[in-house]
Amino acid sequence: MIVVKIGGASGVNLDAVCRDAAELIKQGQSITIVHGGSAETNEISTQLGHPPRFLTSVSGFTSRYTDRETLEIFAMVTSGKINTLLVERLQRYGVNAFGLSGVDGRVMVAKRKDAVRIIENGKQRIIRDDFTGKVEQVNAALLNLLISTGLTPVIAPLAISTEGEALNIDADRAAAVVAGALQAEAVIFLTNVPGLLRNFPDEATLITHIDRNKVEATMSFAEGRMKKKVLGACEALDLGVARIVFADGRVDRPLLGALEGKGTVIS
Ligand code: ADP
Repeated sequence: MIVVKIGGASGVNLDAVCRDAAELIKQGQSITIVHGGSAETNEISTQLGHPPRFLTSVSGFTSRYTDRETLEIFAMVTSGKINTLLVERLQRYGVNAFGLSGVDGRVMVAKRKDAVRIIENGKQRIIRDDFTGKVEQVNAALLNLLISTGLTPVIAPLAISTEGEALNIDADRAAAVVAGALQAEAVIFLTNVPGLLRNFPDEATLITHIDRNKVEATMSFAEGRMKKKVLGACEALDLGVARIVFADGRVDRPLLGALEGKGTVIS
């Protein structure tokens, strides 16, 4: 099993990803896809007159402020549009893809962050109407059932809370926990950079390999959203996934290349 996270940042060559996925499946590999959708959610929520707002937590992470209206837009864009069109594209390449979000069949159960401590204009404040969460449980039995019938799960980044509320979850960390639950041999994070860059945005400073015991130290190179990817990598390693690749999703052979060692490999 290989888990593929497709980034929400624009530039990923979706046709190439689907073509590679079809090729790997033909070779007997199983694939599960987790996707994001932040860029498109920003665009559509702006068009709908509810522009995105972002929160910076006291520990320095940035996340989308997801009030109920934002959650509904997020579901519409990720689960409705992005998921369906990705399934459509995979089907076109002969992959029998099956779209769902973590809400369906409790595929991902998350703990809602009911009080988020943020920094705003240098001051700390607590936000209580945020519908985001951290995945705590994956319904591996359901995913394995789909996979055993020859389907390829394509998962949108929503989870259900223990109280039964849909939540916006981080797709990178979701990919990591899904990979752990499916005992995947590898997770490939596809994005619009060649991998983890020592000196972002200089692509000549690509880090090609990171020893699994030294991942935390690389946190210092990562800025902004890349931080979450490194955190996802650490989580996946902790859950027993042997190989993580941060790979370029813009190229002609994004998955096959990543499996041949292109990008940043953590093992
Ligand atoms: P996606 O939506 O595809 O998951 P993100 O936007 O979350 O992608 O994260 C990838 C982005 O992280 C890159 O486009 C880049 O702008 C940024 N980034 C920050 N620091 C680094 C780094 N050290 N190496 C590579 N990318 C970085």
